[in-house]
Amino acid sequence: MRLIWPFPEPERIRVDAGFLDPAYPRWRRGAGLPPAEHPGADLNLEGTSGDGDLGYPVVAIAEGRVVHSRAHRVWGHIVLLEHDLPGLGRFWSQYAHLLFRTVREGDWVMAGEPVGSVGKGDPTRPFLAHLHWEIRRSPIPADAWPGADRAYIEAHYLDPVAFLRQNYSPARRYFRAGVVLFAPQRQELGPGVVNLERPDLAQVALRKP
Ligand SMILES: [Zn+2]
Repeated sequence: MRLIWPFPEPERIRVDAGFLDPAYPRWRRGAGLPPAEHPGADLNLEGTSGDGDLGYPVVAIAEGRVVHSRAHRVWGHIVLLEHDLPGLGRFWSQYAHLLFRTVREGDWVMAGEPVGSVGKGDPTRPFLAHLHWEIRRSPIPADAWPGADRAYIEAHYLDPVAFLRQNYSPARRYFRAGVVLFAPQRQELGPGVVNLERPDLAQVALRKP
């Protein structure tokens, strides 16, 4: 399986607000916004400030299905992916405040495929361009906003930066539920991992049933 950061240049990621970041409620108070805790991470591109990374590509962190791809008034565009990876099970990744989207609901995307670009959501709000990125362990609505409900956040979300650091796996390996051997008898071999690190060789590892 492949699990990577949502920017194509991971070495340039700057986390400007972390998961349940204590600075976040203070910033909201200062900006005159209703109280809330931060259920995701805000990512920006190192070396930029202000809206300097507006339009920068956002990519899928793992292969999965697009379960939501729509425009929202405050959020801007949101893409929500559903993943089911060996060892990790089902989880969801959400990409919000996008300037535009490049995928539709029902699409299957691979890790590293663009899903949209960094935007700033509602232009009437005091937001600078950034990616709001979440990892969820429940199929809650794409635009869920738990506000100050910390128990809800702890029940349904994971710290996306910690999750990625723990499970980062940049090799081009893709889990497939069904691997079919074309010869000699088109046998269905069951679950396997296709390794594209060596495209000069066919590399398919079968998982024992
Ligand atoms: Zn955010």
